[in-house]
Amino acid sequence: MTNMKSLAGTDAGTGAGVVVVGGGQAGFSVVSALRGAGYDGPVTVFADEHHLPYQRPPLSKKAHTDPDGMGVTLVPESFYRERNIGLRLGDGVAAVDTTARVVVTGTGERVPYEHLVLATGARNRPLPVPGAELDGVHALRSIDDALAIGQALTTARDVVVVGGGFIGLELAQVARARGARVTVVELADRLLSRAVSPQLQEHLRERHERTGVRIVTGTAVRAIEGEGRVRRVVTDDGSLPADLVVYGIGAVPRDELARAAGLAVDDGVIVDEQLRSVTDPRISAVGDCARHPHPHADGVVRLESVQNATDQGALVARRIAGSPGPYESLPWFWSDQGDIKLQIAGLRTDTDEVRVLPGDSPERLAAYAFRDERLVAVETLNWPAEHLAARRLLERRTPVSPADLTGSTLGALARARRAAEVRA
Ligand code: ADP
Repeated sequence: MTNMKSLAGTDAGTGAGVVVVGGGQAGFSVVSALRGAGYDGPVTVFADEHHLPYQRPPLSKKAHTDPDGMGVTLVPESFYRERNIGLRLGDGVAAVDTTARVVVTGTGERVPYEHLVLATGARNRPLPVPGAELDGVHALRSIDDALAIGQALTTARDVVVVGGGFIGLELAQVARARGARVTVVELADRLLSRAVSPQLQEHLRERHERTGVRIVTGTAVRAIEGEGRVRRVVTDDGSLPADLVVYGIGAVPRDELARAAGLAVDDGVIVDEQLRSVTDPRISAVGDCARHPHPHADGVVRLESVQNATDQGALVARRIAGSPGPYESLPWFWSDQGDIKLQIAGLRTDTDEVRVLPGDSPERLAAYAFRDERLVAVETLNWPAEHLAARRLLERRTPVSPADLTGSTLGALARARRAAEVRA
């Protein structure tokens, strides 16, 4: 199959096509959507890990001990072969020459591009305390990290989790399910301060505590101690025994390649509404490493989520294949923390009112966040139907006011509005 638009846009003389740096969810989305959109120029993806591109969310949802049975690989190797996608595993890009339009690999090979897509992701923020290098102290990002933590959990009795964010709370429940004594130490005065409202946080915390996880907030870790192996974690508030420490204290974007290439960077590669670098329109950035304007936010944001990586990758692929458009997808997130299912639709920045309402069964709960009397985000616990209704309403930008929610769920409201549309 040929596609006139992509043929017209391909540097036939040099054989340059699309080069993608990064083989995570975002990089995978770019290459699969390019072929899906009919782009038939050369496509190469550089992935510095040795694994086929895989999904990260399952890594923190259970203790993994079987490397062959993890089930996280996105698609088999044949997918890339059949679509003529060059997959360069274990191969990193060391530099970008924006004038010559080539990337330079770690071995000095120069690969030309017509479009370059940076999908370099983020790295874990290191734990800035003495003893963080001891055996038994782990962070989680890769398959290899997940296997190391899974292995450690087969014997660990006293687990200290540093950071009460998504990763920390998911791993706390994984460790608890294996019977360990678990303490979460969070620096802020509440859990998930970046991601959820204070109102929802209280309920979430109570549910974690009910499972036997101990939570200490407003407390800094001073040091990790032990002889070769971790024995205890020293905090502001005393010392905790530990034979395993896992930390998840946030991530920083991998934007150094872009910075070295002279692109504008500020906690992420700065891109426009079509996700093109504001410095060089032949270069795009997608996923965790991109900072971009967003119609659902006031100003620019950098989002770390599967939804964002997938939708941004597809948007850039469609543009390269000839159908440009701005990035407008509604942000949504999920986190499975043992039996606690947290889902978030929309962005809660600058909201002035949050209402928590019980669902139609005891485990269900939702927090609705409003800005200027208009619903902008919904956080739910164990209530997928309300999350989906929220996504539908927020995606369509249907106005929902606090008064609309009196005595109603979003699910009921969406049904009533659909029925009214049909009658009209
Ligand atoms: P992650 O993806 O790593 O879970 P989040 O941003 O969701 O990232 O959560 C990170 C959590 O770690 C936040 O709640 C933040 O307040 C907390 N945190 C950051 N630094 C420290 C620290 N030094 N000790 C304990 N908690 C920390």
